[in-house]
Amino acid sequence: MIEIEGIERFYQVGDQQVRALDGVHLRIEDAEYVSLMGPSGSGKSTLLHILGLLDRPTRGHYRIDGRDATSLNEEELARTRRERIGFVFQFFHLVPYLSALENVELPLILSGTPSAERRERAKAALARIGMAPRIDHLPDQLSGGQRQRVAIARALVTHPAVLLADEPTGNLDRRSGDEVIELLEELNADGITLVIVTHDFDLGSRAQRRIRLADGKIVSDERSEK
Ligand code: ADP
Ligand code: MG
Repeated sequence: MIEIEGIERFYQVGDQQVRALDGVHLRIEDAEYVSLMGPSGSGKSTLLHILGLLDRPTRGHYRIDGRDATSLNEEELARTRRERIGFVFQFFHLVPYLSALENVELPLILSGTPSAERRERAKAALARIGMAPRIDHLPDQLSGGQRQRVAIARALVTHPAVLLADEPTGNLDRRSGDEVIELLEELNADGITLVIVTHDFDLGSRAQRRIRLADGKIVSDERSEK
């Protein structure tokens, strides 16, 4: 469970203060499927980065699994991020000179997993998302949809409880985008908490819970039954 309370995130740009998030309260239960929508600049990415412990709020509280994340030091933050959270980005962020398999192994290198186990787990994650035949390909030898699936395998290989995706289909054609969404939804059905940022209304509407942001504030939060 993730709980944030009174989150503010301000940026100082010259003599101007940008209020990217301006008092956000949000509680996300385990295994929820949430979409975050809103116009460009409304604070969606900022909120996702804070939820993913990639950024710290200017003010406010954040609890993950009952622990206060604002009190964690850098090392504890990094470990929580590594063990609990997976990220998927619009532009994949794969390392161009590493194979699909090596890209997926990366988070396990960071966590100090022995190499044989690393390889096995990376292969299993790639098989899980239907990429077993492409493990030796470099990113530029893969289609956009395949690259995003490799990025999802990289996010999954640490068995995170939460998967955060920022415009995961924003750089894909409709069909590959749909495949990526279906894959993310399957993972959610298996129990992972899924938060997807999108400005695609059709896509956002698929989530059981739909949150809209405007000017750094939550302006609506709707749920429907699973
Ligand atoms: P969204 O993802 O909804 O498009 P963002 O969360 O990226 O919005 O940005 C929210 C607001 O914060 C915008 O006004 C943006 O310009 C500003 N912002 C985001 N990151 C920074 C930064 N590093 N420095 C200054 N302003 C920023
Ligand atoms: Mg954004």
